Amino acid sequence: MDDLTYRQQVLDPVSSSFCAAKWYNATIWLGSGMTTSCHHPPAHLVDIDKVRANPKLLHNTDQKKDDRRKMLAGERPAGCEYCWKIEDMGRDAVSDRVYKSKIYPIEALHEARDTPPEQDINLRTLEIAFDRTCQFACSYCNPAFSSTWVNDIRKNGPYVKLESDGRNHFTHTHNSAQLYKFGEDNPYVNAFFEWWETDLHRTLDELRITGGEPLMSGYTWKLIDWFKTNQGKSQTRLAINSNLGMEFDVIERAIDSCDGIELDIYTSNESVSAHAEYIRDGLNYGQWTYNMERIMKGEKLRGLHVMCTINALCLESLPEFLTTLMIWKNQYGRDFPNFTLNILRFPSFQSPLVLPDAIRMRHRDRLQAWLDQWNKNVMLHEHEVHHLQRLIDYLDVVKTPHSESFDTPKLLNDFKQFYTQYDSRRDKDFIKTFPNLQQWYDSL
Ligand code: SF4
Repeated sequence: MDDLTYRQQVLDPVSSSFCAAKWYNATIWLGSGMTTSCHHPPAHLVDIDKVRANPKLLHNTDQKKDDRRKMLAGERPAGCEYCWKIEDMGRDAVSDRVYKSKIYPIEALHEARDTPPEQDINLRTLEIAFDRTCQFACSYCNPAFSSTWVNDIRKNGPYVKLESDGRNHFTHTHNSAQLYKFGEDNPYVNAFFEWWETDLHRTLDELRITGGEPLMSGYTWKLIDWFKTNQGKSQTRLAINSNLGMEFDVIERAIDSCDGIELDIYTSNESVSAHAEYIRDGLNYGQWTYNMERIMKGEKLRGLHVMCTINALCLESLPEFLTTLMIWKNQYGRDFPNFTLNILRFPSFQSPLVLPDAIRMRHRDRLQAWLDQWNKNVMLHEHEVHHLQRLIDYLDVVKTPHSESFDTPKLLNDFKQFYTQYDSRRDKDFIKTFPNLQQWYDSL
């Protein structure tokens, strides 16, 4: 069933705002006790006292139960704005509501429909972050998710003169994102391991570990060791989000420890060479491609996935990057790698929509030309075509990054302010790296 038909025939009969992710999927940051249903809605806090008594409340928070009630009534939870905005584009646009529901069996959707919204639900897919330890400090990340970003703020102070950064992502070290150090008594980590031992290792289809960089967290290795010493006890697929910015033997050790279980690796990138190293500070593009090739040659994974965060700068070489992925697919198979294109919303001054119309249309045309060239290639998944078409439409139609930031002058100010400071803190050179943007950048 194609994606649009799925939306019309499976989701809409439940309700026009139904999304199974609200029931069966969660991301939980165990360092801070925050959770959300998917990456789009803002995260909210898990009640620390309640979760000590019932570890299932790591996911079944009062807010999620209220959102479920709304969805069953056909109302749109405000936190899911990302999906509503895409659906309101009116081109039979398919939002993530479809992709994030389609992965579950139809019976699970019926069970969600028929379960009272206040009842606790067993997760089917879970993403956890143990802590924010990370050796990268990507431009679109912030200290809440990267200890290297914390070091930047500690060493150089806050970024200044940013006007649209209402959430103050770049002005402080976000200590609330990491309440406990590794080895300290952390009730959220305790709840996870308790739930894992009693239930999750049997009920979860997929557990995905994110970070920070998970392969730098002691808790990740504790879990990997659990799989190693409990072979055959769990059928849960394991997925690891890794920036792949380390020596290959570390990656190999994780892969080998998970022998006998299905393992996926998710990694992030969205441009090539100097562009990638500029945007994802800490990345060595040669090391990343080397590790990608070694993983694919090893043939031990279920899938290797590239998550592209579509920002203003990556568009300069996104077509070349996608071509690299297609060359790998042709060599190693359709899922080696596969990719998703996730349009960046925050920080909104890094959104593709800050670019002037002429540059944005140039990118739209190049992406359309790329799609015309590769569209019929059997290695391209349907969701990859749709993500690309969605990005092309997004560059074309939507004029504002999100409903809270209509103020283009502020976004342009912040774009210039941020990258000027980023250059001097990180020893980078915007104009040298992105000469095509020089004229516009100088005019800001
Ligand atoms: S943002 Fe979209 S995909 Fe995520 S939970 Fe909401 S409706 Fe589902």
